[in-house]
Formats: sequence, structure tokens, C-alpha cells
Amino acid sequence: MMTFCEECHEMVAYSTKNVTMEKEIKGKKIEFEAKEAFCPTCKGSLFVASVRDYNLKQMDTAFRTAENLINVDEIQQILDNYNIGKRPLSVLLGWGEVTITRYLDGAIPTKQYSEKLFDILNNPENMDSILESNKHLIADAAYRKGKEALARIKSSELLELSSENKIDSITKYMLINLVEITPLALQKLLYYAQGFNKVFNGTFLFQDDCQAWAHGPVYSEIYHKYKDFGYNPIDLAVSYDESAFNILNSEKEVLDTVIRNFGCYSGKILERMTHSEHPWLVTRNGLSDDSPSNEVIEKELISNYFEQIKQKYNMLSTSDASDYSKDLFEKLFN
Ligand SMILES: [Zn+2]
Repeated sequence: MMTFCEECHEMVAYSTKNVTMEKEIKGKKIEFEAKEAFCPTCKGSLFVASVRDYNLKQMDTAFRTAENLINVDEIQQILDNYNIGKRPLSVLLGWGEVTITRYLDGAIPTKQYSEKLFDILNNPENMDSILESNKHLIADAAYRKGKEALARIKSSELLELSSENKIDSITKYMLINLVEITPLALQKLLYYAQGFNKVFNGTFLFQDDCQAWAHGPVYSEIYHKYKDFGYNPIDLAVSYDESAFNILNSEKEVLDTVIRNFGCYSGKILERMTHSEHPWLVTRNGLSDDSPSNEVIEKELISNYFEQIKQKYNMLSTSDASDYSKDLFEKLFN
């Protein structure tokens, strides 16, 4: 990007650097991350229109964040999410026809109007009830487009809920069915359940990726949920609604096998076991045992490894997984 440097008297390719700026707006001191353009030759600062526009936007965002006011991108998101125009939305909310248009052009909404917009951004069901009660105010086509968008949001939310919950429900199943389990052991059991389910039932139990941490395979989201227990057993009263959690009977068989044949070992023993296995070793790629890493253990590695185990031990059903766990324990500790 070129601009004219008055100091050097020539066109220069300017650079930018990050700076913190401060500005007083409505009696409040607002700090924001801005950019400054400067000349690479004389290092003097330069005026560049696009950099000024960027800084104004940063300042506007910082002010709105400090005041808890909705910003332009969020308002645009409402229009996109619900597939509705600026005018119909203004009308639905009982505002002047050009209100939303003015906000998109940068006018700052009042607290009250801002709250209303946050409310429909965050709650599709509230948008739905406004759309229903005020549909006579807007064109039929606009109403139908809005309803279709709401239906799409609803179905994608349902989808997200069911896939998101799978690893959580499996975790709960383990917590309920094990007398005592630490966060470290839980991670290993999730890993074995994933591997054995793939080879016995043909599918992965959950979509979450496993990472090759220093202490073995880890599902980081679950780790963060239970990390407060440290090296102690997870001491939580867990209950779940069987029908809502949707674990198949064939999957339960695998979980029960893993609980019976691996759940009897401590987290430290399970850690040694996974440290001797191909998927973790390959993903660590020679890292020393205590080095942190977030490297993902590819699902294919897990799938191939457990397939080999199944063949090597000639496993015919899930209960044969005991041959593997016993053998591994013998090899490592005798
Ligand atoms: Zn210059």
C-alpha cells in the first residue's frame, strides 16, 4: 500500500504497527487497540484513510463494549440469521422504518433499543413470537422468509445438541458405572471406548478429537470440565435420563467392557499403557515425555491400531478386549 510521505517527499510503501489509543467519549475514557501507519524511511507517522477508518471502528467497538451496547456487526447478524430486511425488522419492533438502517450506518442505539436487539439476537424464540404477533405489519413474503430461517435455526440447534452431548453422556455413563475414577483415568477410558467401538461397531462413539498430551490421550473439553478434581476421584452426583442421552445398546456393551477391563486400573497405570501404544507414540513424534503438546491423534491412527489389536488377539466379541488389557498390563508391570 502506497501513500505520500511529506517528510520524504515521495510515495512510500507504508507499514503499520499496533498502538493503544485513548479517547474520551461522553465523559468516559475509552482505551482501544489501534493501528498507526508510518513511513519505512523516516519512521514518521502518516495519514492513511483506511487506517483512520479502522481506528474509528475499533474505537466504536470499544465504546459499545464498555457500555454494553450492540454493535453494527451484531445487528447485521440479526438480519442474516433471520433472513429479514432492515425495514421489516424496524417495523416488527414497532420502531421508525429507518431505525435499523441508521444503526447500520453507525448511529449508536439507546440502551433500551440495544437490549431489545440483543434479546432477539440471542433468543430465536423471542424473534419468533415478535414475528407472529406483528406479521400483519410486514409483507407476506418477508414473514415466510423469516419463518423458514427460524425453522433452519431450530433444526441446526437440535443437531448440535445431540452431537455435542454424546461425549458428555458417555462420560456420565462411566462416572455412574465406576466406583471411583480420576480425571486422568477417565480420559484413558474414553480413548479405549472410542477405539473399541470403532472396531466392534464400525463407528466412532463421538466426533471429538483426542490430543497427545504428556500424560497420554486427552479429550480437552472433558478435561476442562473435570480438571478441578486434580488427581482425586471425581466426586459428583451424576444422573441422566437414558432416553435423552441416546447411547445405543451395542455401544453400552463396549462401554461396559472398557469399564470392566480397563476401569480396574489406576490413571497412572492407564497412562503407561497408552504411552506404549502406537497412536500416542506416533503423534508425539519423539517429544520427551513431559513436553506439552496439543497435537491431534488422527482418528485413522486410532482406528488402524485397534483393528490390528482385534486381529492380533483374534477378538470375536467385545468381551475379548480383556485379552488385550491383561496382556498389556503383564508386559508393562511384570
Ligand atoms: Zn518518510
